[in-house]
Formats: sequence, structure tokens, C-alpha cells
Amino acid sequence: MNIILLGAPGAGKGTQASKISDAYKLPHISTGDIFRENIKNQTPIGVLAKSFIDKGQLVPDEVTCKIVEDRIEREDCKNGYMLDGFPRTIAQAEALDKIAKIDLVINIDVDHSLLLDRLCGRRVCKNCGESYHISRLGDKTDCARCGGELYQRKDDNPETVQSRLDVYNAQTSPLIDYYAKKGILFNVVGNTTPEDVFEEVSKKLDAMNK
Ligand code: ADP
Ligand code: ZN
Repeated sequence: MNIILLGAPGAGKGTQASKISDAYKLPHISTGDIFRENIKNQTPIGVLAKSFIDKGQLVPDEVTCKIVEDRIEREDCKNGYMLDGFPRTIAQAEALDKIAKIDLVINIDVDHSLLLDRLCGRRVCKNCGESYHISRLGDKTDCARCGGELYQRKDDNPETVQSRLDVYNAQTSPLIDYYAKKGILFNVVGNTTPEDVFEEVSKKLDAMNK
């Protein structure tokens, strides 16, 4: 099964992606993680991506599409995969249509008033990418999943977050309609806890796997 996770920054895509990936054994493909890995290793793609990401803008479509194309051709994707953070524009969705058949698009819908706090209070595992919110961490400083060190992403500051939300509204939210028209959109309310959202999502995935 090939799945797309859709939702605003802070909607909880990454959190759900890691749960779905564990439970359904699907490779988790996050374009954001791929870019951050490239930035860490100072590759040419990383240098380019950083100049956009630090401003809260999107990395150009050509670069992003090529990365995803190469990734989904790999052996581990032949029985399915889950895309997180891609597509983010109509042009990316159209490029994807040419190379993949998507079975389900899960749209995590969250009140926009919650997003700023979620993103600015987010801490991420350096090792496995799992996200946490400071309000649920207590005095913990390491990842519950793998023990890795938690850090705050450079683009999780109020100013950059605001431009990421503007970019989402202008360029990414039209994808909801795009996939609704194809009849493969599944909406889930994301205002609740990660566990509740995952329960909704698994009901849907279990029904489809039957
Ligand atoms: P978010 O928490 O905002 O969903 P991600 O970790 O998915 O963040 O992405 C971080 C940044 O990487 C984005 O703000 C954007 O600059 C860049 N990026 C990620 N995916 C894409 C994409 N599909 N197209 C263009 N840029 C992307
Ligand atoms: Zn971890």
C-alpha cells in the first residue's frame, strides 16, 4: 500500500508516520528528514535546501521530486511506502502521479490556532526523528523510542513557523481538494492525542488491508 500523509506543519504527520511505519512495516519517507540529513552531511543538496528551509520556504520542486523518485524506486519500497511531507505543491502531486499509484491520502486536520504552540514547543530526536512536545516531556531529555538526544529544530522558531504556515495555506492546502476529487482522501481530526489519531488511522488501514 502506498500512502501519503497530508497536514499543516505541526499537524502531527511525523508522529503518525513513525507509528504507522512501525505497525504496518512501511518505509517512512520524509522529505524534511532527507533534507536535514543532507544539511548535516553538507552535501550539495543540503547546502541548497538549507537556504530555503531556514527561511520557511519550500525547496524547489525539481530538486524535491528527483529525491522522492530515487527513493521510491529502491527495493524496500516495492511492497509499499509512506510519504510524509511530500507532495507539498500541486506540481509535486502531478509529478508523483506519473511515477506512482497512491492508494490512500491521510489528511490530519488540526485547528490552526494550535499549530504555532505545537511547533515552537516541539523537540525532535537526533537519532530516529521522533517528535515530542515540551508539555509532555517533563524533565526527560532523551527519546523514549531509541534513547537518542532531543533537540529543537532551527526552523521551529515563531518567525519561521509563521512563514511555513503561510506557505502551507497558499501552496499545500489545495492538495486536499486534489486528492478528494480522486476519491482517495481520508480525513482525520488531529486536535486530540497522538494515540487517538493513530486509532482512527489504524481502523481505516485495517479495513483497507482486509
Ligand atoms: P514540517 O514540520 O513543516 O511539516 P518537514 O520536516 O516536513 O516540516 O520539512 C521541513 C522543511 O523542509 C519545509 O519547511 C521545507 O522547507 C522543506 N521541505 C520538506 N518537504 C518538502 C517538499 N515536499 N517540497 C519542498 N520543500 C520541502
Ligand atoms: Zn529516537
